[in-house]
Amino acid sequence: MIKLDYKLDKQILECLYERMLFSTKLNKMSVKKNFDKLKEKYPYNIIFFDISFSEIIFVEPEKTRCLINTIELRIIEQSKVKFKEMKKKKKFIYEAKGELKKIFKYENKFQSFISEFFEKELETRTCYFCNIHYVNEYKVDEKEYKNEFTLDHYYDKGSYPYLALSLYNLIPSCYVCNSKLKKSIELDVFAPNSEDFDFHKRVKFKLHLSKNCKDLNIKSKADIKIPLKENYSNKYEKYIEVFKLNERYEAHKDIVFEMLQNAELYPESRLKELQDLTGIPYQQIKKDIFNLIDDADLSKQPFSKLIRDMSDELGLR
Ligand SMILES: [Zn+2]
Repeated sequence: MIKLDYKLDKQILECLYERMLFSTKLNKMSVKKNFDKLKEKYPYNIIFFDISFSEIIFVEPEKTRCLINTIELRIIEQSKVKFKEMKKKKKFIYEAKGELKKIFKYENKFQSFISEFFEKELETRTCYFCNIHYVNEYKVDEKEYKNEFTLDHYYDKGSYPYLALSLYNLIPSCYVCNSKLKKSIELDVFAPNSEDFDFHKRVKFKLHLSKNCKDLNIKSKADIKIPLKENYSNKYEKYIEVFKLNERYEAHKDIVFEMLQNAELYPESRLKELQDLTGIPYQQIKKDIFNLIDDADLSKQPFSKLIRDMSDELGLR
């Protein structure tokens, strides 16, 4: 639900990533070399004839779907050229992808390296899918660190093994979103690192109060509902459903309940009084009381989107 914007770090990311995957110094046989060797053989010489290793590794989020379509279509075409029987066609596709899986191998050697590298370079704090969990590293003892950080393959690496190491196919996320909910489900919207991702603008938490509440005078969080509503379309319906966002946020209504209570305790006139008393600008006092953060920093803090949308609902911004 939060946009992943790493334009600033793009150059560093690509430079480091390139060193890791292209260098024969780091790997006995670089991934690139292995891929180029595979490309000399049938059917890869046809499937990838005009697609380079770099194009796969650095394919931009907006262009990934198009690259998938091209490669998948070519694999199917070749299966049809070779075989008539459905069973044999399927075996051909399975085996062709099996070879690619061996080359673009994410597990073992690269997984921890890539994960660490992303964590450091992006300074990720919270999950981009749910904005509920922190995904930072923490120290267990002198030697051991534990990690709540996972990288989701936005386009499933099981279905599209050639994208297993693609830089922009990796989305920092929490374990719940990545492994328990999304798994290999394909979402029909652009990834959070895409220019076209606009969940944060299009979908908002709305405040619904039960009928017996008058003038925001809420006695219990049971009187509050905070459904996510998308304006003018339902592009992100599946996204909301897959990550169980409405259900998961339902458990965190106390944040909104507290905001409502504070809104009652600190009307504009009270904030101005506090400003006169302390000399601190009332906008700053308001920010501190309601835990408001700037739009650019939404990924730094859990529940920041919920708080931002609710502050709009309550007219706090
Ligand atoms: Zn998450």
